[in-house]
Amino acid sequence: MALTGECFCGEVKYEITGPLVDPVSCHCSRCRKAFSSQASNYARVESGNLKWIAGEEKLTSYVGKHGFGLVFCSTCGSTLCGTIDQSIHGVVLGCLNEEPELEEFHHIFVDSKASWEVLPTGVTKFSEGRQPTDRR
Ligand SMILES: [Zn+2]
Ligand SMILES: [Zn+2]
Repeated sequence: MALTGECFCGEVKYEITGPLVDPVSCHCSRCRKAFSSQASNYARVESGNLKWIAGEEKLTSYVGKHGFGLVFCSTCGSTLCGTIDQSIHGVVLGCLNEEPELEEFHHIFVDSKASWEVLPTGVTKFSEGRQPTDRR
């Protein structure tokens, strides 16, 4: 079953046909700024498995110095997906419309969390990245 997602204003919509892989919430200070939140919320998708259904012309992006980019709705500012070398690498979980089935959801860099954040209990936490396959 396809998952769908959209930005806050609803002008940009997408559909994902493949699995969401390595779901992660990263609590480092860079992710707090990149995701405008207490942590990132993100899972990888095969680039061919995410299809824009509406509003693709509204997309804008920012590529950081390590080549990892983020794609936003230029109207409302929602962060929709991540890119590596201009190709879709993953999706921001917060913009999904459905509740995805996520296996092995990891919270990483929890030692860097904001002082005001209270971490959830009963989740898998890592002080830093997950080893040896840290793919933030
Ligand atoms: Zn929008
Ligand atoms: Zn991070």
